[in-house]
Amino acid sequence: MTTSRAVQEIEQMAPQLAALSRELWEHPEVAFTERYTSRRLMSILREEGFAVDNPVAGLETGFVARWGHGKPCIAILAEFDALPGFSQKTQTTEEPEVPGGAGHACGHNLMGAAHTGAAIAVKRELEARGMEGTVVLYGCPAEEVLTGKVFMARAGLFDGCDCAINFHPDSVNGVDMHVLAGIDNIKFNFHGTISHAAARPYDGRSASDAAELMNVGANYLREHIPDGVRIHYVTTDGGKAPNIVANFAQTWYYIRARERAAVDEVYKRLVDVAKGAALMTGTTVEVDFQGGCYPNVQNKVLAQVITQSMEEIGAPVFTPEEKEYAAQLNRTCPQSPRRPYPVDPDVPLDETILGLYDEGNFAYNASDIGDVSHLMPSTMFGTVCYNMLSDLHSWQVAACTGHSIGQRGMIFAAKVLALTAMKLIEDPKLVEQAQAEWRQQMKGIQYICPIPPEVQPPVIP
Ligand SMILES: [Zn+2]
Repeated sequence: MTTSRAVQEIEQMAPQLAALSRELWEHPEVAFTERYTSRRLMSILREEGFAVDNPVAGLETGFVARWGHGKPCIAILAEFDALPGFSQKTQTTEEPEVPGGAGHACGHNLMGAAHTGAAIAVKRELEARGMEGTVVLYGCPAEEVLTGKVFMARAGLFDGCDCAINFHPDSVNGVDMHVLAGIDNIKFNFHGTISHAAARPYDGRSASDAAELMNVGANYLREHIPDGVRIHYVTTDGGKAPNIVANFAQTWYYIRARERAAVDEVYKRLVDVAKGAALMTGTTVEVDFQGGCYPNVQNKVLAQVITQSMEEIGAPVFTPEEKEYAAQLNRTCPQSPRRPYPVDPDVPLDETILGLYDEGNFAYNASDIGDVSHLMPSTMFGTVCYNMLSDLHSWQVAACTGHSIGQRGMIFAAKVLALTAMKLIEDPKLVEQAQAEWRQQMKGIQYICPIPPEVQPPVIP
């Protein structure tokens, strides 16, 4: 049990935070379009007395909300975008609320509510105790396309903060210590010359051929790139009909690796492959860089403070109805744990605290928190917000993030965020230790924003 004032503040705000997370769940907005969500969170923070900057870094839905003065300065990173096509009712069978609509299958509605609640709770404790220290809530849009925080990093918005903490919905309460991948996300647009494919093929220059040859080239490239680099692609536009020589085609690539330098190297070579395909076919290619981020490096000092906070607060206990709901969802999932959790996959909702796990390993998933982790010590943790056998980006997760299961995990996360931030503010030595570890991790690494300078966030009408 903890006597933390910030934790008590969350306890008092719990019904409103749960309702807020449900409200955001009912207004799912995909990357860069999070207008309702962003405005809602900003208005709550302004009302509380935070100084809110918006737009930031060319992001209409991005914001920075600041309260307090002096050091340490703790960054709390909220995300809030939804995923296209994952609309789902809060029930244990697959059925969209809005056919074809977006949904919170990654639970970022819970992140929006938890991080906002935590920032407010920290502010209230600092204010009541007349303490020095700054809390900054970053409203980070477009995490699902791995770019919001990268644009914010490029604009220098994280300057002046000492460390960052972030919660993500999970099926365990713990801090996953594995490194996440760095990534580039690029669309290659080929422009050719249209003609009748039967009557005048000699007048045509096929963009579709170019896209196909680029994919062939990329598949040959695979053998000659550093081990562990993954390239995936999908041809999103291959022309309109076989009897028309296509004047436009598009192929969409992701490159992933543990080292940012490997992503950069393969990116350059992939651009050459695209140029070669254009040259072969008499077409032109336009490289449309969608986004990219750095690998995420977790900080052990911060992870330990987070774990200590979890233990002091105590893991959430779920109701028999919630366990039955989760058990029914488990039966719809693949019957094996997805990651090396040393927990029982037969338990529908875990009620233990796992602490730090999977240290020293690497996962090919990515998050744009990677860029923040190259600017200051940063750590992301998870709390139980969905059933044990679900994985993120699934209808089952969307069925939990609008349910009391997700809300219970979200309230726990808000408490952990608030208590961790207070521990760091009260004991600046912890911040110094986290920074010493981070400097060690960053030896020989220079942060260069992966998004080229000419690329700006999209303007959504
Ligand atoms: Zn997510």
